[in-house]
Amino acid sequence: MYGIRNLREKLDAGALGRQMYELLERLYPICRSITGEGFRETQRIVAEHVRGLELRGVPSGTQCFDWIVPKEWNIRDAYVKAPSGEKVIDFRKSNLHVLNYSVPVRAKLTLAELDKHLYTLPEQPSWIPYRTSYYKEDWGFCLAHDDYRKLEDGVYEVVIDSTLEDGDLNYGECLLLGESSREVLLSCHACHPSLCNDNLSGIVVSTFLAKLLADTPTRYSHRFVWIPGGIGSVVWMSQNQERLWRIAHGLVLTCLGDPGNFTYKKSRRGDAEIDRAVQNVLRQTGDDFAVLEFSPYGYDERNYGSQKFDLPVGSLTRSTHEGFAGYHSSADDLSLVRPEALGDSLLTYLAVLDVLENNGRYRNRIPEAEPQLGRRGLYGMQGGLQKRERLEMALLWVMNFSDGEHSLLEISDRSGYSFELISDAAGKLLEHGLLERWERDDG
Ligand code: ZN
Repeated sequence: MYGIRNLREKLDAGALGRQMYELLERLYPICRSITGEGFRETQRIVAEHVRGLELRGVPSGTQCFDWIVPKEWNIRDAYVKAPSGEKVIDFRKSNLHVLNYSVPVRAKLTLAELDKHLYTLPEQPSWIPYRTSYYKEDWGFCLAHDDYRKLEDGVYEVVIDSTLEDGDLNYGECLLLGESSREVLLSCHACHPSLCNDNLSGIVVSTFLAKLLADTPTRYSHRFVWIPGGIGSVVWMSQNQERLWRIAHGLVLTCLGDPGNFTYKKSRRGDAEIDRAVQNVLRQTGDDFAVLEFSPYGYDERNYGSQKFDLPVGSLTRSTHEGFAGYHSSADDLSLVRPEALGDSLLTYLAVLDVLENNGRYRNRIPEAEPQLGRRGLYGMQGGLQKRERLEMALLWVMNFSDGEHSLLEISDRSGYSFELISDAAGKLLEHGLLERWERDDG
């Protein structure tokens, strides 16, 4: 099943990187949160690229495991006016200025009273921090420490024109059917306001993956979800409990636009096929990469890897959220993300999906000793000497280890030859009747 491999080989990563960056620029100004119009507007824009994307809504007050869907938050405007009448904090200049989920406020406060509601980053005095208060009713403003230090004593006018009312928690979902009903889950959080690497980079890479895979024949079905971080995976899992067994593999997408090297955080299982597939692909790039063990915090992989469901879902990012300067601040802006990094991330995800598509176990039909490949035209084939030698070696590896136990992925890991080469060799051996399919975990 080479649909994804053929697709990947003809893609122009540079052009796709630029298109993803344009989409990211368009989404950047929207004030998103875990609920509300900004989240829905983002999904409407994603839907322009993804056929069949469904926007789902779960009403406030719905119980989902130990959580209750909160009220829906919307905001139109917010500012703080100094005693001089000047707007010293203005939501219209940056949506990060408002503590996300702030309840409505109209008040006149002294600086000392206002101060309790102000958040800054003294160690990075020019950045605006990103802060939220989803589950405790509160209000506040975030600002650069440099600007905070200029505030003078006096009475300030404070306005937050927001609403917190019964409504919906939304998420976007798109299922691309393959031959099998078993699914690869591709999940990203889409709830942060103007933050580029954390959130928007994952949204645009998953949007383009869904767009490209929509026209590609595949073995697995691919399920994409764009969810509010944290509670979104809780809600989605609670709504789909009977179907979770279909998730054969999964990845959480975020932090995919910075120029750093890749980091892979393993699924809770630690040795799931997805864990081995991602590491196999990253080894082939020849670049340094980091592998982290599962931990029950971070992004939505912590919910997918719950004790009860323990779904095989890891997270492939470039720098981790802790690993890039500017995380959760105004410095995570358009200048942090590079079109080339987005393009490279997209191709890397496709390479992982290709491994999942083509992995399987086979049985050598002549297990007694090395078969006579020359007689079958499999030795001394066409092609440059190096390429030919590599393929001939791959044929021997596949024949020797195809015992129904070792998968092609394990043979690739063990031999050091790329998965692509190993699966090509398996294809040739199948054609010549030297190999037979053993089991494929298709469900
Ligand atoms: Zn975040």
